[in-house]
Amino acid sequence: MTFQLPKLPYALDALEPTISADTLREHHGAHHKSYIEKTNKLQQESDLTDASLETLVQRADGALLQNAAQAWNHSFYWESMTPGDASEPGAELRTAIDATFGDLKALRELFLERAGSHFGSGWAWLVREKDGRLSVECTHDAGCPLRDGKTPLLVCDLWEHAYYLDHQHDRGAYLEGFWSLIDWARVDQRFAAASTVSDASSQPRTHGAPPTIPVSRTRSASLIGAALLGGLLTLGGCGDDSAENAGKHVDDFAEDVEDAAEDVADEAEDLIDDHDGN
Ligand code: MN
Repeated sequence: MTFQLPKLPYALDALEPTISADTLREHHGAHHKSYIEKTNKLQQESDLTDASLETLVQRADGALLQNAAQAWNHSFYWESMTPGDASEPGAELRTAIDATFGDLKALRELFLERAGSHFGSGWAWLVREKDGRLSVECTHDAGCPLRDGKTPLLVCDLWEHAYYLDHQHDRGAYLEGFWSLIDWARVDQRFAAASTVSDASSQPRTHGAPPTIPVSRTRSASLIGAALLGGLLTLGGCGDDSAENAGKHVDDFAEDVEDAAEDVADEAEDLIDDHDGN
């Protein structure tokens, strides 16, 4: 799969004065472009050659994970902002914000405080947790909440390259400007989509039926099998994957459980044979 640098959803100078055309040209045309090119190169050398960007963020490791996450995060960041008059969250999101933070003003204060005090490079997010609650969190470097099964709703880039040309060390001025550029209509859409997926995933699943674990031949094999099955059930509880992906995870994990249980059983039999032989 070859990923392309997405077009910016606005003109280079549309976010001035908070984010200048010079910053956007460099940030989008050089930084983001570089992450995508590196992702394309590293993916070809990996065993995830057909994976989507989201899947790479969820399953890759090392440099491929870092570059894929940066590629994904930047696309999400461009689409978290819009020029023009400041908008506000829609009714459903507003209700959730009020329930979690008190009101929009309190969310703003928390977001700016966390983003302003985050040490070093990273990202500030509004996310929907797996249990449906909203939260504000910062990730370091290329960190992305998708990796943890959460649903990102909004992001602000905290790397210095996002604001240094325009605000030098004054991250606070950049954050204040960012807040007034938030595309709340887009955040509303993301929130609604996440709620729909969550409602669907709470229904009984018809895919990825629990695996049949072969009857263990030794006690230790059954203990290991039980431990792995515990991991499987935990994995199956992640609500962020598509149904198809979740089914595949279950199938993959079932194979791992069978293999591990058989290995342990074989080893135990070898030990018994050795013991009998002595
Ligand atoms: Mn950046």
